[in-house]
Amino acid sequence: MSFKSLGLSDALLKAISKKGYTTPSPIQQKAIPVVLERKDVLASAQTGTGKTAGFTLPMLQILSNGHQQRNRPIRALILTPTRELAAQVLEDVKTYSEFVDIRSMVIFGGVNANPQIRTLRQGVDILVATPGRLLDLHSQKALSLSSVEILVLDEADRMLDMGFLRDIKKILALMPKRRQNLLFSATFSKEIKQLAGSFLHHPVMVEATPENTTAEKVSQKVYRTNKSRKTDLVVKLISEGDWEQVLIFTRTKHGANRLSQKLEKARITSAAIHGNKSQGARTKALAGFKSGKVRVLVATDIAARGLDIPLLPHVINYELPNIPEDYVHRIGRTGRAGASGEAISIVSVDENEYVRGIEKLLGQKLETEVLEGFEPTESLQEVLDKKAANKAQNQRGRQNSRNGSKSTRPNNSNNRGKSQNSRRRK
Ligand code: AMP
Repeated sequence: MSFKSLGLSDALLKAISKKGYTTPSPIQQKAIPVVLERKDVLASAQTGTGKTAGFTLPMLQILSNGHQQRNRPIRALILTPTRELAAQVLEDVKTYSEFVDIRSMVIFGGVNANPQIRTLRQGVDILVATPGRLLDLHSQKALSLSSVEILVLDEADRMLDMGFLRDIKKILALMPKRRQNLLFSATFSKEIKQLAGSFLHHPVMVEATPENTTAEKVSQKVYRTNKSRKTDLVVKLISEGDWEQVLIFTRTKHGANRLSQKLEKARITSAAIHGNKSQGARTKALAGFKSGKVRVLVATDIAARGLDIPLLPHVINYELPNIPEDYVHRIGRTGRAGASGEAISIVSVDENEYVRGIEKLLGQKLETEVLEGFEPTESLQEVLDKKAANKAQNQRGRQNSRNGSKSTRPNNSNNRGKSQNSRRRK
């Protein structure tokens, strides 16, 4: 099947081919014709399936066919749970709309609203937004939703998880009743079904499973070593393998910062991305990573959700997550939309339990290797003793700084995840 056979215009086909896509993904094959027929859609699709193009392409076709009003009211609204996803969706909208006369912009919180208000004033056809900032700017009368013809709720399950249900309901009430609604969600809980039932009209159900299942497209490997050798092992793998665009997961924000700094010392360009970073810093890190200026992105699980980095060849788990499902999410970031990827886990003896949980979930054993010079020699007891000693030392440091004496650990005042932090210090 080709994009052309889906009924898309030449201007859109040109943008698609410029982007390098040749075949529509399963969700695109199913969703595009239905959206073009102006039907409501209830789609089960997660990141990695090509869902963004699945709703953006037909939306652009509909909007560019219609009569363009002078004042350019908002005709399509795409709601997303996170700033990162919003920024990503806008990027895709811009890519696909290169050859059509459609204006688009994104608004989200955590950054100055004034530039957003100024751009809104100039008129915009497609608005990508997170719920909070949208309501905020609406209450300031910086935007109107009274001309919205198409509404997309992207990653609706995550929006509900993040407590946006009330905001969504408020937003729905601000739009004309007659409009096309598209709801995308990875899961279908009772709440999602209720929400869908409350505003979708005779929706067509569209389903797509992610293209890469862990067992098929992602090669997975565990390297065993001592905790204290993990960084050296990561440096060796990246340098000797000449790896570009590596995403590394750590369990804590401080762990991410520390590893990123150590990589920089080893002359591997790197940036950390986590919840304590400002929006500006996160966007900059992601842009640097995508452009190839930053070779390694070190992220926590939460920060990485919703990041869209196409065709990521390498994912490294610097520490395994304690929730096996998070492992599957992490490694799902490699081999997007058809390409193969490699997921490496650097595992110390205290993480054995996590390995077992992951293997149980996957229903397969993970291939394990030990590299020369990185042999694991620590016993579990030794690791636990070290952790306890570090924790005690950290507590003493904190006590000292509280008493006004000089702390042996100047960073401690910033440490919120204290126990995790102490556990990981050497
Ligand atoms: P999404 O699920 O929308 O986040 O898309 C996942 C990734 O697949 C993105 O990097 C897209 O750029 C890419 N992609 C989307 N559609 C196609 C396609 N038809 N062929 C190849 N890659 C695609």
